[in-house]
Amino acid sequence: MLLIEENFDVKRLTSLKCGGNIKKVIFPTSQEEFAEALSIYPEAKVFGNLTNTLVSSFGYDGVVILTTKMASYIIEGEFVTADCGLKGPKLSQAAADEGLSGLEFMIAFPGTVGGEVFMNAGAHGQSISDVFVEAYCWNKEYGFITLNKEDMQFSYRTSVCQNQDLVILGAKFKLTKADSETIKAKMKENLDFRKAKQPNLATPNCGSVFRNPEGESAGRLLENAGAKSFCAGGAKVWENHANFIANRNNAASTDILELMVKMQNAVIEKYNIKLKPEVRFLGGTDKREVELCKILYQ
Ligand SMILES: Cc1cc2nc3c(=O)[nH]c(=O)nc-3n(C[C@H](O)[C@H](O)[C@H](O)COP(=O)(O)OP(=O)(O)OC[C@H]3O[C@@H](n4cnc5c(N)ncnc54)[C@H](O)[C@@H]3O)c2cc1C
Repeated sequence: MLLIEENFDVKRLTSLKCGGNIKKVIFPTSQEEFAEALSIYPEAKVFGNLTNTLVSSFGYDGVVILTTKMASYIIEGEFVTADCGLKGPKLSQAAADEGLSGLEFMIAFPGTVGGEVFMNAGAHGQSISDVFVEAYCWNKEYGFITLNKEDMQFSYRTSVCQNQDLVILGAKFKLTKADSETIKAKMKENLDFRKAKQPNLATPNCGSVFRNPEGESAGRLLENAGAKSFCAGGAKVWENHANFIANRNNAASTDILELMVKMQNAVIEKYNIKLKPEVRFLGGTDKREVELCKILYQ
């Protein structure tokens, strides 16, 4: 039976530790339950581990499906097929144990397979699109379909799923046989890099706030524009990297959006470049939040 929570406080599940109550949250445990949830609530919004999402402190008056209880995977030869809710670090570790290379980057951040395919997540010179074979998807128009790599139209932090409201139930990847110790050494190197250069989850954050513009680093532009000293309410730009926001003191979503606008404006003023947010927003009709999102996302 579907696990459905009403008026669910989602804040503690988000990596930013920010957010309000959601009218209805469904936690499917299998692709069959996910399909059932979609047939009952075709308008539902789908999220994974909420590590790239800012949820409004005013909450969301609709239905959300969270996939993190769907975490099965199968490894057959060089192929790995995973449910959308499986966390990247777990899959990365499982592949390494089997002597399969290609997912070392996933060890370093806490997204789910679905969120990572949707975002074409990447790090340390690797990305989802490098190893992607196909995804098992659904939308209101097409129903259930399988998309291959070409269909997915991957580019930097985007996939076709973002423009066509495609929900990802699972995905298949093709990895390469390699020595387990070499793979694990690469994973350790990735983790060590993170420890030195990026905040971990003890500091509530959502990873990079803005996408890198073509040929540039958003962090560099923000730092040169003075963003490291910026704050708004309980939200502060992280002191060691200007493209991260740390929730230092129970920040409200409006604080975080205000801070993002301040960061975006500073780079416009200095470089005449409008940074595009990488973080996604789930919210409602609060007037100030709607205004801030219009500035940020249009
Ligand atoms: C400390 C930290 C470090 C990070 N480092 C990196 C990094 O190096 N590289 C990188 O790319 N990202 C990084 N991120 C961001 C984030 O982890 C990734 O973008 C990840 O892919 C998001 O996965 P998620 O499950 O948390 O997605 P969510 O935040 O839950 O959702 C993000 C978007 O994906 C959509 N989505 C999620 N699941 C599905 C699904 N099954 N079907 C359809 N749409 C779906 C949601 O609707 C939403 O629009 C980092 C985040 C943190 C907190």
